[in-house]
Amino acid sequence: MKCPYCNKEMESGFIQCRDGVTWTPKKQLVAALSFLGKGSLHLASNTVCAYKCSECKKVIIDYSEN
Ligand SMILES: [Zn+2]
Repeated sequence: MKCPYCNKEMESGFIQCRDGVTWTPKKQLVAALSFLGKGSLHLASNTVCAYKCSECKKVIIDYSEN
């Protein structure tokens, strides 16, 4: 995958979290993660594929397979 910022090839890898990977519109307290609010997006139970650009310090997460 090419970086959409600098167009260089990104490095593929994974982001892992024991308690699941979730996008939320607002910052959540870690202790409240089991009560994720409306609009939250559960990305994966513990692992998502992600592409990293070291130049731009960006990570792109692909959650389509979950
Ligand atoms: Zn880049």
